[in-house]
Amino acid sequence: MLPADYHIHTCRDHGAAPPADYVAQAVRLGITHIGLVGHGRTEFPCEYAMSEQAETLFLSEMQALKARFPGQLFCGIEADYYTLPIHQPYDYRIGSVHYVRWNGQFVSVDSDPEQLAQQVQALWGGDFSRLYRLYFELVAQLPAKTNADIIGHLDLITKFHETHHLFSVDAPLYRRLARDAVQALLDKNPIFEINTGAISRGYRTTPYPADWLLREIAGRKGRIIFSSDAHTPAHMLYGFSDAAALARACGFQTAWILTDQGFSEVPL
Ligand SMILES: [Zn+2]
Ligand SMILES: [Zn+2]
Repeated sequence: MLPADYHIHTCRDHGAAPPADYVAQAVRLGITHIGLVGHGRTEFPCEYAMSEQAETLFLSEMQALKARFPGQLFCGIEADYYTLPIHQPYDYRIGSVHYVRWNGQFVSVDSDPEQLAQQVQALWGGDFSRLYRLYFELVAQLPAKTNADIIGHLDLITKFHETHHLFSVDAPLYRRLARDAVQALLDKNPIFEINTGAISRGYRTTPYPADWLLREIAGRKGRIIFSSDAHTPAHMLYGFSDAAALARACGFQTAWILTDQGFSEVPL
């Protein structure tokens, strides 16, 4: 498996260090292909999105760094479902759902488990199926809404499952709605992330998506890419060898990487 990682956040959004630090770490680790991303702005104020000023700086820093690592370094954007139109020339887009909207109110699914439980109580009398139904409806629409090449952390809605067990991920309704979203996505053939970010940050012991969803994707010859969702240089490539073993166990023989020729398939 090639050491490549395309979902890495810098301090131009909510990461810890400037782009040059991640590139220096990539050189130290022998990473052959790397993509740094920024969170795009949304229809509502989002504290971790790049400001216009930060985005301008990010793009100019990346342009200078890319000239030093042609064909190896890429500049991406992580677009939320509720993204504002993206006009800048990013090399690729990750489409992610971090929020659902209900009655004009935005609910963050990955910020704070206690607050999330309170909001689900207030909005839906504690019925989490209302939340995950909305979540997967938006996930299914990510390619059309964001023009995403890559689907970010497919089942982010389960982020707090191991620490807080907010709802059952084995409930038939949960499984059906998640599976329906994946099947709708597979018709568009985006690349699905195997994302280890919640492992490095101590929320989960396994990557997104759940193994049974990976098997659904493998069963229809869907495409995967490995992402650390790192917020610090130390977390680049985090848990990738375990994630690759999981992918193989779920039926994948190849993964995808981004090169200057576009996305290409490589053996796992
Ligand atoms: Zn994300
Ligand atoms: Zn991210």
